[in-house]
This record gives sequence, C-alpha cells and structure tokens, in this order.
Amino acid sequence: MIQTLEEALKKINELDQKNKQLEAELEKYKNKKAITKDGHQVELLANIGGPQDIQIVIDNTAEGVGLLRSEFLYMDAKDFPSEEEQFEAYKKIAESLENKRLVIRTLDIGGDKDLKYMKLPKEENPFLGYRAIRICLDDINLFKVQLRAILKASAFGNMAIMIPMISSLEELRKTKEIINEVKEELRKKKIKFDENIKIGIMIEIPAAALIADELAKECDFFSIGTNDLIQYTVAVERGNEKISKLYTKFHPAVIKLIKSAIDGAHDAGIFCGMCGEAAGDELYIPLLIGLGLDEFSMNSNSILKARKKISELEKFDCKELADEILKMTSAEEVENRLKRFAQS
Ligand code: PEP
Ligand code: MG
Repeated sequence: MIQTLEEALKKINELDQKNKQLEAELEKYKNKKAITKDGHQVELLANIGGPQDIQIVIDNTAEGVGLLRSEFLYMDAKDFPSEEEQFEAYKKIAESLENKRLVIRTLDIGGDKDLKYMKLPKEENPFLGYRAIRICLDDINLFKVQLRAILKASAFGNMAIMIPMISSLEELRKTKEIINEVKEELRKKKIKFDENIKIGIMIEIPAAALIADELAKECDFFSIGTNDLIQYTVAVERGNEKISKLYTKFHPAVIKLIKSAIDGAHDAGIFCGMCGEAAGDELYIPLLIGLGLDEFSMNSNSILKARKKISELEKFDCKELADEILKMTSAEEVENRLKRFAQS
C-alpha cells in the first residue's frame, strides 16, 4: 500500500496523540497502591541492573526493588570487586531508595553470563552447569566477600538477600549456614548489620517449585524466576531463536509449577513474588492474581501499566480464570483464554 507523505504524517500524529493520552492516564497511577476493584492488594517492585536504573524506579513510583542483579559489579570490572567496592555500591542504592525494600540477588554468574577474569570452565551445557549458587557454594571465599558487603550495607536500608538457582533443601541449608557464619564474624567485630534481614530464594528450577512446601519452611520469601523456570521446564534454551516458539509461559506445566510455588509459600506463611519477565506481562497478570501471587517485580517501565491493569481487575474473576486455566492442556488454549479475558 502506497502512502502519501501527508497520510504518513497524519498517522504519526495520531500515534503521538495516543501515546500522550496514555502517558497522562498513567500519571494518575503514580504513588498509588496496586489494588483490585474488590480490594485485593499486591506489591509492585522493580528489577534493576545497577545504580543507573534507580531514577526510573523512583519516577515510576515502584514500591521497591524486587531484584537487583548484582552481576553488574562483576561484569563491569577487570577483576573481582572488593568487599569495600560492593559495600559502597549496595549502600548507595539502599540509601537512594529511602527505606523501600531492596532485594539483592547474590552472584548469578555462569550460564549465559561469562566473566573473563574468572576463567569459568568451558561447558557443553552452561545453563545446566557451573553457575550462580553452585559457584558460590564451591568458592566460599568469593561468596563470603559478597555476603559481608551486603550484610554491612543492610545497616543502611531495608534490604533482603535473594539466592538464585536453588534446587534443593541441602543447598538452601548450606547457604544459610554460610550466611550465619558471616553474621557471626561481623558480630565479633562489632560491625552493624540488620539482624532481621530476610533471606529468600528464587524459584527458577522445576525441582525447587515441586518441593516449594519444604523450601518455604526454611526461608523468608520466594521470587519466581520465570525466565529460567520456563527454559528448564520445557527444555528450551532461553534466547535460542530456532526453538523460541516452544519457550512459552503459557505451557500448562509452567503454570502448575508457579501454582506449586505460590501454594507452598502460603502454606508456610511466607510471601511469594515473581521477578521473571512474566510478572510484567499485562496478559498474564490476571492469571497471577488469580493464582495468589503477592509481589510482582518487573522492568520499571511496566510498573504504571501494571498498576492500572490490576486496578481494573476483580480478584474473584481472576481466581475463576486461574481455576479454569489450571484444567487446560495446551499453551495455545491458555493464551487464547487470556486474550479473551483481556478483551472482556
Ligand atoms: C529469571 O530467571 O526469571 C530471572 C529473573 O533471573 P535472570 O533473568 O537474571 O536469570
Ligand atoms: Mg534466572
């Protein structure tokens, strides 16, 4: 179809107007709570990759940071960052959040994230290999440097520690043992830290989702990492273009695992969040509300849209939707149902 310049300019103008309208509409959701029409409240937090992202978190009035990917300190350096460098960085971020929650995820290196100076082994299947907490439990000194920095910084804000790639109770217990050792060392040196700092884990391996009830008894919160959970559930490498159609959050197995994580958390009386991309997807949010997710952590740019979306929902309808979807047997069926729900 050939367009005249005049027609093209008219279209651009219309789009521009629409965007301005949407922006003005979203402004109304700043500093509001994320609450459904029938009064069900959830929390909306932001995912960040370093201090450069703080301003946008504040501008979008996120209720805190649900995932700080601490890798930025390691990726941007020529060598391992020192305890002091890490402490300063975490403290600065915590202070700029003015007592809003800051969840620091411990080092999640390996998989698709390489560190030249670390000389990680070449692996046939890096996503199934030496990564994240597996490295930290193997190189305890490396882990302790980061834990000391986080704990020391916890005296200056409202912080929580989150452990990536937990697959078993043994790993969680071992991790907590190391955290307790570091705490004891700090106490002996009379260095202040938050004695009540919460320790949570990411649920991003199907094994963890399936034993969520057991894991929940021994930690303070969950955050579901759908980016990895999907790839491990359907055995589709994230980012592999060739098979990207198979990588889907609509797969009934993924939804059952999310439910298992949320139910496991609630049965043990802890909260369950999500910091994978799915948490910020407006199509998916009604399902997550229906399944009972307590906290949504997403790209800052999605916060206001998600808040608006949630304010238009009824928890009761979302619960019915979730019950219906849990009986479905294909990703296509789930996706179509969510699309119809969005239009209703
Ligand atoms: C996830 O796996 O969903 C997640 C949030 O972590 P990352 O994308 O950093 O692996
Ligand atoms: Mg992950």
